[in-house]
Amino acid sequence: MSERTYDVVVIGAGNGGLAAAATTAQKGMKTLLIEQHSLPGGFASSFVRGRFEFEPSLHELCDVGKEGEWGGCGTFFKDLGLDIEWVPVPEAYRMVITGKDEKLDVTMPFGVKEYIDKMEHYVPKSREFITKFFDLCQEVLEAIGYLGASKGNPDKKILTSKYANFLKTASYSVDQVEKALKIPQKARDILNAYWCYLGTDTAHLGFTVYAAMLIKYLLVGAYIPKMRSHEISLAFEKAIRDFGGEIAYSTKVEKILVENESVIGVTTDKGEKINTKHVICNAPRHVAYGHMVEGADDVKAKANREFNARKVGGKGYVAYFGLNKTVQELGISDYSYFIYPTTDNKKLYNSMFKRGDNPVQAIVFLNNAIPDCSPPGTSIISVTTLYKDNAWDDVDEVKYVKAKNDIAKNIVRDVEAALNIKISDAIEEFCVASPQTFARYTGAYDGGIYGYESETWDSLLPRLLMMKEDLYIKGLRFVGGYGFRCHGYSSGYMSGNTKGLLTYKDSLEDK
Ligand SMILES: Cc1cc2nc3c(=O)[nH]c(=O)nc-3n(C[C@H](O)[C@H](O)[C@H](O)COP(=O)(O)OP(=O)(O)OC[C@H]3O[C@@H](n4cnc5c(N)ncnc54)[C@H](O)[C@@H]3O)c2cc1C
Repeated sequence: MSERTYDVVVIGAGNGGLAAAATTAQKGMKTLLIEQHSLPGGFASSFVRGRFEFEPSLHELCDVGKEGEWGGCGTFFKDLGLDIEWVPVPEAYRMVITGKDEKLDVTMPFGVKEYIDKMEHYVPKSREFITKFFDLCQEVLEAIGYLGASKGNPDKKILTSKYANFLKTASYSVDQVEKALKIPQKARDILNAYWCYLGTDTAHLGFTVYAAMLIKYLLVGAYIPKMRSHEISLAFEKAIRDFGGEIAYSTKVEKILVENESVIGVTTDKGEKINTKHVICNAPRHVAYGHMVEGADDVKAKANREFNARKVGGKGYVAYFGLNKTVQELGISDYSYFIYPTTDNKKLYNSMFKRGDNPVQAIVFLNNAIPDCSPPGTSIISVTTLYKDNAWDDVDEVKYVKAKNDIAKNIVRDVEAALNIKISDAIEEFCVASPQTFARYTGAYDGGIYGYESETWDSLLPRLLMMKEDLYIKGLRFVGGYGFRCHGYSSGYMSGNTKGLLTYKDSLEDK
């Protein structure tokens, strides 16, 4: 077995891994990023069918911002010198409720003031309540910034004096906080539209996670890269190499080697042993502790108990359409739509446990942000939905093609009815990514695309405060969707940055 030595090995080139490797390489650490696929990015990628280049995952990235008002993620990208052409997403969202007894069609803008004004238009007399709600969200965002900067060591006095409302609400769900603030029900229905981005109904979803996401979107808007999320992944790849880091593609890390509860290296499927004291892992924690960590059985048992208390987030299903019809011909002017038959998101969440007519649909009409993303006379649509737990367990190789295509047929039917458009007569390219697809290309555990669910007890605050205790094995840290920031693009990047910096700090003691 050949051997090499690095200051740090990063396992997986998803958003978390890319950000971690760029951070450690920028700090001058001898960095090796190992990715099992032949491409960087994990979900952040692109693929081509016929004349169309599709975005596999990203609807919108929060926390980027623009010159003069960069968000946390935007500042990080700028510090690394990433060259990415950002395109603003035009509106926050359009939500269409299609139930027989419940109808709603609202379009919400970015900007806190603009959002509150629009809410007042849809829900008169809601201004005072929504203003209070966003004041609280703002405090949550600032508190999270403080906790992140304190790297798991916050000063309790600062927390209680500056962020008292954050502490008060941190263990509550979105619903509990909204009820306490007496927000009118219709305004709550509109406020909660983004719930499917976090994959948990608002009765269980931790308030802090939702508050932080919503306020970030409203404060600095949302952005997408011009050339799909692959553009971001390639920019990271270039930065890592420019900083002297190395990347090994088509290579799988098989074992994380541990001695005396400290990392000593990894082995790969290429028969190599890489010596290192620091591993940053972009694979799920339970996969690492369950299959990769060699030795340290007591510690593994403790880590597995932690995992067993958690719920794995939704499994992804996306239907991608390349149409020989423009968005103008379709009569569609917005970019991001949520189509639900009801505003009762608990009911919608429960429907995800069964495969079939999943009624939760998040739709992107890409040309309404990037008009030339497809050839003249055409357009690109993607429709994303989620499933839970065992919903796909009965699908074997015989049932697979029918199962995925049946859902797509229903999606076409539902989207046509909800938006009063015709797409079935214009489908030139069609493709589905099922939970099996996500599992195949990124190793996503069971096709899950959202890390662990951000329930109240496992939300941002506990995860941030537990950051230090998370280190069951000295030198082994986790980033990405299963990391301490919860899932999502910006959370993945920022978790990589934080864990990269902590690893760098630790490495100073190695010398
Ligand atoms: C359809 C869809 C829509 C989404 N929409 C949005 C959105 O609009 N906004 C948003 O913020 N988020 C969105 N997300 C969520 C977001 O994509 C994820 O949270 C994020 O990309 C996860 O990043 P990650 O760092 O966990 O890495 P992942 O993408 O999970 O990548 C992990 C990487 O590690 C590699 N790897 C794993 N094990 C090994 C090993 N043993 N050896 C070598 N390599 C290994 C894998 O091959 C993979 O490349 C969406 C996701 C999907 C699928």
